[in-house]
Amino acid sequence: MRNSFTLSKSAFIRGMQCHKSLYLKKHYPELEDTVSESRQMIFNKGTNIGLLAQKLFPGGVDLGVYIPNNFAKAFSETERLINEGQKVIYEAGFKYNNLMCYMDILVKEDGKYYAYEVKGSTVVKDVNLWDTTFQYHVITSSGIQLEDISVVYLNNKYVRQGELDLQQLFNIESVKERVLKRLPDVKANLDAMQEMLSKPDIPDIDIGSHCSNPYGCSFAGHCWKNVPGYSVFNISNLNANKKFDLYQKEILEITDVPDNYPLSPNQRLQIDSEKTGKLQINKSEIKKFVSALNYPLYILDFESFQSAIPLFDQSKPYQQTVFQYSLHILDKPDGTLQHKEFLAEPTGDPRLPFIEQLIKDIGTTGDIIVYNKSFEKGQLKLIAKAFPQYTNQVREINKRVVDLMTPFQKKHYYTAAMNGSYSIKKVLPALVPQFSYDNMDINNGMAASMSYENLYYEIDQTIIDKTKQDLLEYCGLDTLAMVEILKVLKRV
Ligand code: SF4
Repeated sequence: MRNSFTLSKSAFIRGMQCHKSLYLKKHYPELEDTVSESRQMIFNKGTNIGLLAQKLFPGGVDLGVYIPNNFAKAFSETERLINEGQKVIYEAGFKYNNLMCYMDILVKEDGKYYAYEVKGSTVVKDVNLWDTTFQYHVITSSGIQLEDISVVYLNNKYVRQGELDLQQLFNIESVKERVLKRLPDVKANLDAMQEMLSKPDIPDIDIGSHCSNPYGCSFAGHCWKNVPGYSVFNISNLNANKKFDLYQKEILEITDVPDNYPLSPNQRLQIDSEKTGKLQINKSEIKKFVSALNYPLYILDFESFQSAIPLFDQSKPYQQTVFQYSLHILDKPDGTLQHKEFLAEPTGDPRLPFIEQLIKDIGTTGDIIVYNKSFEKGQLKLIAKAFPQYTNQVREINKRVVDLMTPFQKKHYYTAAMNGSYSIKKVLPALVPQFSYDNMDINNGMAASMSYENLYYEIDQTIIDKTKQDLLEYCGLDTLAMVEILKVLKRV
């Protein structure tokens, strides 16, 4: 039975993370979690980056069309193209005994081969070195000597100006020296994996910090099924060692954490609230916060999307781009609420119409209430950098920002229903249970950004109109939620 399991690069990486994960994948694939929409989106982005990086080495033959449905053809075509002296091959496939891999880009120059592995990250990570060492092992063992092997990754210093400059967008870093050092380890690990896979029993490996490092394991649903949805793993800011220490002591429920277990005051507050069910309110601090507010209040929330490849001038890889805001205005404490909103047309850079409209809507006096000010203020600063003509207005807007998150972050108001969190998605249902995002087609920030980004490529007007309406409803509810939270604080 030994050495009979085919191992791809991703299987090898899975095995490096956890033998049990590899074993389950090979023997019990039905236990694997389904791929979430957000994870699928990350895969798709990776594919787009790979296609763009191919342009660094133009004129290649792309064998990606044979993956994942016809591996045999990818291997035979690679062999044929190499024999014919093809200079550039994308997704070249290699097989050596029971190991297989694809090389994103293989280049032949002056009779020597150079391999390039494309990553969507902005640094070469440790796991990338295991990737490339595995590839190096398979390719060289199959008879192709590599003069060099490199990782191609995104340059987070690159600021787009006009057309994408691929030479600037990507960094290319040789990893051959590091790969050669790891080669013996890869071979030893492969032997250990084959040995483990041939055994009749699932490896006896408990959950641990390896379950999310370097990747979230796709068998977490299976292995973590005995951990309650709200457990010691949800104690706010508790480090992983302590979480697993409690787990090893078979303490899973928050209410079972001993009174003498070393915790911060906020962590202790979270546990005490859970045990007693008591609402914890620091009335004087809440009153101080509420009475310091300057009317009219502008209650503001932004939505943004993040693109690995900078889509617009003056933006970098992975920079957030704001495209929408909702603004509720309260002229005085018992005044009437007015609503304004903005959603950029998904046809170009949304930031310019966004800031122009915001400046018109936001007035010049009165506090601007946001939830988690670092995001809104940070986005406005990025806009000022891209459009310096608005620097002064942005500075004035940012001076007026007040963070509604502060009383919850400082635990001046805490109830067990917040589950140790001060995110608005936890605070809102705890304070205003009747307020709900349920039944909305877009009901979280990730869905909002994905939906908006998709609009750039959507041609069906019905879908465009519906998505825009959903986005407006979602963002509008976010600021309305802040209005409701503020009402609760005022009643303290
Ligand atoms: S969830 Fe954790 S223990 Fe289970 S297979 Fe994955 S990494 Fe291993």
